[in-house]
Amino acid sequence: MKNDSSICIYDAFISFLKYDDEYWYLHMINNDRCGSKLSLKDKEDVVKNSMKAAEDKYNDLITKYGNLSFNDLIKIFNIRIKYIVDDCNNDYIYFGLYDPNNRIITFNVNIFSIVKNFLIENDLQNVISIKKLEQVVLFHELFHAIEDMSTEIYTRTKMLKSKLFHFITLRRKLDIASEIGAMHFSKLMSGIKFSPYIYNVIILVARGCIDFK
Ligand SMILES: [Zn+2]
Repeated sequence: MKNDSSICIYDAFISFLKYDDEYWYLHMINNDRCGSKLSLKDKEDVVKNSMKAAEDKYNDLITKYGNLSFNDLIKIFNIRIKYIVDDCNNDYIYFGLYDPNNRIITFNVNIFSIVKNFLIENDLQNVISIKKLEQVVLFHELFHAIEDMSTEIYTRTKMLKSKLFHFITLRRKLDIASEIGAMHFSKLMSGIKFSPYIYNVIILVARGCIDFK
Protein backbone atom coordinates (compact mmCIF):
# COMPACT_ATOMS: atom_id res chain seq x y z
CA MET A 1 0.00 0.00 0.00
CA LYS A 2 1.48 3.33 -1.05
CA ASN A 3 1.55 6.22 1.42
CA ASP A 4 1.52 9.92 0.46
CA SER A 5 5.27 10.24 0.31
CA SER A 6 5.73 7.17 -1.90
CA ILE A 7 3.00 8.41 -4.29
CA CYS A 8 4.81 11.77 -4.51
CA ILE A 9 8.15 10.01 -5.14
CA TYR A 10 6.54 7.69 -7.71
CA ASP A 11 5.10 10.64 -9.67
CA ALA A 12 8.38 12.57 -9.53
CA PHE A 13 10.35 9.65 -10.97
CA ILE A 14 7.78 9.00 -13.70
CA SER A 15 8.33 12.62 -14.82
CA PHE A 16 12.16 12.30 -14.50
CA LEU A 17 12.08 9.39 -16.95
CA LYS A 18 10.81 11.76 -19.66
CA TYR A 19 13.79 14.11 -19.50
CA ASP A 20 16.31 13.50 -22.26
CA ASP A 21 20.00 12.64 -21.85
CA GLU A 22 21.20 16.17 -22.57
CA TYR A 23 19.06 17.53 -19.72
CA TRP A 24 20.75 15.26 -17.15
CA TYR A 25 24.27 15.77 -18.55
CA LEU A 26 23.83 19.55 -18.35
CA HIS A 27 22.56 19.07 -14.79
CA MET A 28 25.77 17.13 -14.01
CA ILE A 29 27.94 19.96 -15.37
CA ASN A 30 25.95 22.57 -13.47
CA ASN A 31 26.59 20.61 -10.26
CA ASP A 32 30.29 20.21 -10.94
CA ARG A 33 32.69 22.68 -9.28
CA CYS A 34 34.73 23.22 -12.47
CA GLY A 35 32.01 22.61 -15.05
CA SER A 36 29.58 25.10 -13.51
CA LYS A 37 31.98 27.95 -14.35
CA LEU A 38 31.70 27.33 -18.11
CA SER A 39 29.42 29.35 -20.39
CA LEU A 40 26.20 27.64 -21.54
CA LYS A 41 27.70 27.23 -25.03
CA ASP A 42 30.83 25.53 -23.61
CA LYS A 43 28.70 23.30 -21.36
CA GLU A 44 26.65 22.21 -24.38
CA ASP A 45 29.86 21.49 -26.31
CA VAL A 46 31.20 19.33 -23.47
CA VAL A 47 27.92 17.37 -23.38
CA LYS A 48 27.91 16.89 -27.15
CA ASN A 49 31.57 15.84 -27.41
CA SER A 50 31.45 13.54 -24.36
CA MET A 51 28.36 11.78 -25.77
CA LYS A 52 30.13 11.46 -29.13
CA ALA A 53 33.22 9.92 -27.46
CA ALA A 54 30.96 7.34 -25.76
CA GLU A 55 29.09 6.60 -29.02
CA ASP A 56 32.38 6.12 -30.89
CA LYS A 57 33.69 3.63 -28.31
CA TYR A 58 30.32 1.83 -28.29
CA ASN A 59 30.39 1.54 -32.11
CA ASP A 60 34.03 0.35 -32.04
CA LEU A 61 33.17 -2.43 -29.58
CA ILE A 62 30.06 -3.57 -31.46
CA THR A 63 31.92 -3.56 -34.80
CA LYS A 64 34.86 -5.49 -33.36
CA TYR A 65 33.15 -7.97 -31.02
CA GLY A 66 29.42 -7.94 -31.84
CA ASN A 67 27.03 -8.40 -28.93
CA LEU A 68 29.39 -9.96 -26.42
CA SER A 69 28.31 -10.21 -22.77
CA PHE A 70 29.96 -8.06 -20.14
CA ASN A 71 31.82 -11.11 -18.79
CA ASP A 72 33.27 -11.87 -22.23
CA LEU A 73 34.31 -8.24 -22.66
CA ILE A 74 36.16 -7.99 -19.38
CA LYS A 75 38.09 -11.16 -20.27
CA ILE A 76 39.17 -9.46 -23.51
CA PHE A 77 40.25 -6.36 -21.55
CA ASN A 78 41.84 -8.48 -18.81
CA ILE A 79 39.76 -6.85 -16.07
CA ARG A 80 38.51 -8.46 -12.84
CA ILE A 81 35.48 -7.54 -10.72
CA LYS A 82 35.49 -7.22 -6.96
CA TYR A 83 32.22 -7.01 -4.98
CA ILE A 84 32.35 -4.99 -1.77
CA VAL A 85 29.89 -3.63 0.80
CA ASP A 86 30.62 0.02 1.58
CA ASP A 87 28.06 2.21 3.32
CA CYS A 88 29.79 5.39 1.94
CA ASN A 89 29.40 8.80 3.52
CA ASN A 90 27.05 11.28 1.83
CA ASP A 91 29.95 13.35 0.47
CA TYR A 92 31.21 10.48 -1.64
CA ILE A 93 28.64 7.90 -2.71
CA TYR A 94 29.75 5.46 -5.39
CA PHE A 95 28.21 2.51 -7.21
CA GLY A 96 31.52 1.38 -8.67
CA LEU A 97 35.18 2.26 -9.06
CA TYR A 98 37.94 1.41 -11.50
CA ASP A 99 41.49 0.77 -10.35
CA PRO A 100 43.73 1.17 -13.44
CA ASN A 101 46.87 -0.15 -11.70
CA ASN A 102 45.37 -3.54 -10.90
CA ARG A 103 42.68 -3.52 -13.63
CA ILE A 104 39.90 -4.16 -11.11
CA ILE A 105 36.32 -2.88 -11.22
CA THR A 106 34.81 -2.60 -7.74
CA PHE A 107 31.04 -2.97 -7.44
CA ASN A 108 29.42 -1.60 -4.28
CA VAL A 109 26.69 -4.09 -3.29
CA ASN A 110 25.44 -1.82 -0.51
CA ILE A 111 24.54 1.10 -2.79
CA PHE A 112 22.96 -1.35 -5.26
CA SER A 113 20.76 -2.75 -2.44
CA ILE A 114 19.67 0.74 -1.38
CA VAL A 115 18.43 1.45 -4.94
CA LYS A 116 16.75 -1.96 -5.15
CA ASN A 117 14.86 -1.43 -1.86
CA PHE A 118 13.89 2.12 -2.85
CA LEU A 119 12.41 0.93 -6.16
CA ILE A 120 10.38 -1.81 -4.42
CA GLU A 121 9.18 0.47 -1.59
CA ASN A 122 7.98 3.10 -4.07
CA ASP A 123 6.50 0.60 -6.53
CA LEU A 124 8.91 1.72 -9.26
CA GLN A 125 10.51 -1.68 -9.95
CA ASN A 126 8.47 -2.21 -13.13
CA VAL A 127 9.44 1.13 -14.69
CA ILE A 128 13.07 1.45 -13.54
CA SER A 129 14.96 -1.80 -13.99
CA ILE A 130 16.79 -3.21 -10.97
CA LYS A 131 18.35 -5.95 -13.10
CA LYS A 132 19.94 -3.47 -15.52
CA LEU A 133 21.54 -1.44 -12.74
CA GLU A 134 24.40 -3.93 -12.28
CA GLN A 135 25.15 -3.74 -16.02
CA VAL A 136 24.96 0.07 -15.97
CA VAL A 137 27.49 0.25 -13.12
CA LEU A 138 29.87 -2.27 -14.69
CA PHE A 139 29.73 -0.72 -18.18
CA HIS A 140 30.28 2.73 -16.65
CA GLU A 141 33.51 1.49 -15.08
CA LEU A 142 34.48 -0.37 -18.27
CA PHE A 143 34.36 2.99 -20.07
CA HIS A 144 36.90 4.37 -17.59
CA ALA A 145 39.09 1.33 -18.34
CA ILE A 146 38.75 2.00 -22.10
CA GLU A 147 39.58 5.68 -21.54
CA ASP A 148 42.74 4.56 -19.81
CA MET A 149 43.81 2.73 -22.95
CA SER A 150 42.83 5.63 -25.26
CA THR A 151 45.10 8.53 -24.41
CA GLU A 152 43.64 10.71 -27.18
CA ILE A 153 39.98 10.36 -26.13
CA TYR A 154 38.08 13.66 -25.66
CA THR A 155 36.75 12.76 -22.20
CA ARG A 156 40.30 12.42 -20.85
CA THR A 157 41.91 15.28 -22.77
CA LYS A 158 39.34 18.07 -22.39
CA MET A 159 41.11 20.78 -20.41
CA LEU A 160 39.73 23.79 -18.63
CA LYS A 161 41.67 27.00 -19.06
CA SER A 162 41.60 29.63 -16.37
CA LYS A 163 43.62 32.73 -15.56
CA LEU A 164 45.63 33.39 -12.44
CA PHE A 165 46.53 37.05 -11.76
CA HIS A 166 45.28 37.84 -15.32
CA PHE A 167 48.52 36.63 -16.96
CA ILE A 168 49.18 33.00 -15.95
CA THR A 169 47.02 30.49 -17.84
CA LEU A 170 46.18 27.35 -15.86
CA ARG A 171 45.04 24.15 -17.52
CA ARG A 172 43.10 21.58 -15.55
CA LYS A 173 41.43 18.33 -16.63
CA LEU A 174 37.62 18.49 -16.78
CA ASP A 175 36.66 15.28 -14.94
CA ILE A 176 32.93 15.73 -15.50
CA ALA A 177 33.47 15.07 -19.25
CA SER A 178 34.75 11.61 -18.29
CA GLU A 179 31.71 11.00 -16.06
CA ILE A 180 29.27 12.04 -18.82
CA GLY A 181 31.08 9.79 -21.29
CA ALA A 182 30.96 6.82 -18.88
CA MET A 183 27.30 7.41 -18.14
CA HIS A 184 26.35 7.63 -21.80
CA PHE A 185 28.41 4.54 -22.69
CA SER A 186 26.65 2.57 -19.91
CA LYS A 187 23.29 3.60 -21.33
CA LEU A 188 24.20 2.43 -24.85
CA MET A 189 25.76 -0.84 -23.70
CA SER A 190 22.98 -1.79 -21.25
CA GLY A 191 20.20 -0.76 -23.64
CA ILE A 192 18.14 1.10 -21.02
CA LYS A 193 15.72 3.68 -22.39
CA PHE A 194 16.09 6.32 -19.65
CA SER A 195 19.14 8.20 -18.42
CA PRO A 196 21.38 6.21 -16.03
CA TYR A 197 21.56 9.41 -13.99
CA ILE A 198 18.12 8.44 -12.62
CA TYR A 199 19.90 5.83 -10.46
CA ASN A 200 22.03 8.62 -8.96
CA VAL A 201 18.89 10.64 -8.20
CA ILE A 202 17.44 7.58 -6.44
CA ILE A 203 20.48 7.31 -4.19
CA LEU A 204 20.34 11.03 -3.37
CA VAL A 205 16.65 10.75 -2.41
CA ALA A 206 17.11 7.46 -0.52
CA ARG A 207 20.03 8.91 1.49
CA GLY A 208 18.06 12.07 2.31
CA CYS A 209 20.22 14.43 0.21
CA ILE A 210 17.09 15.51 -1.75
CA ASP A 211 13.63 15.77 -0.25
CA PHE A 212 10.37 15.79 -2.25
CA LYS A 213 7.95 16.31 0.61
ZN1 LIG B 1 32.77 7.34 -13.29
